[in-house]
Amino acid sequence: MENQKLPDNDGKRLLGQLAGEIGKSFLEITLDEKLEELEKVKKCLENLEKFQPKEGKMEIVKYNHHGVEVSVISELKGKHRDHCLCFRCGKFSFDPAKNCPIASLLFAVCIQCHITTPVYECKEFEIEEKKPQGG
Ligand code: SF4
Repeated sequence: MENQKLPDNDGKRLLGQLAGEIGKSFLEITLDEKLEELEKVKKCLENLEKFQPKEGKMEIVKYNHHGVEVSVISELKGKHRDHCLCFRCGKFSFDPAKNCPIASLLFAVCIQCHITTPVYECKEFEIEEKKPQGG
């Protein structure tokens, strides 16, 4: 069989390196150690899979959000709070009178335009003392 050249991308390169590392010592280690190594490979492959864009996984779906039909990447639907810094920030509050002004402004835009957006970066972020409840 003709040797196939692997596409030059990080995932394939990483796998190649991993296989090389294991190949060197795999025959000399115990069964338990082999299983441990294979578990590491499994985790590595699972992590790689998360970063590989796959057809179908980026599908856009429509759903009714607070009475308005919106479009969303299916994989991100309902993930807003998991991604948003505000939900881990000490300045964030569900009480509008106590809430961070930036978060309040963003929330107002979201309401006005029927969008949902997490905050991925913020220079004002503060470690929360207690996770906010409700809302
Ligand atoms: S400071 Fe930044 S992260 Fe914290 S609530 Fe305000 S906008 Fe969100």
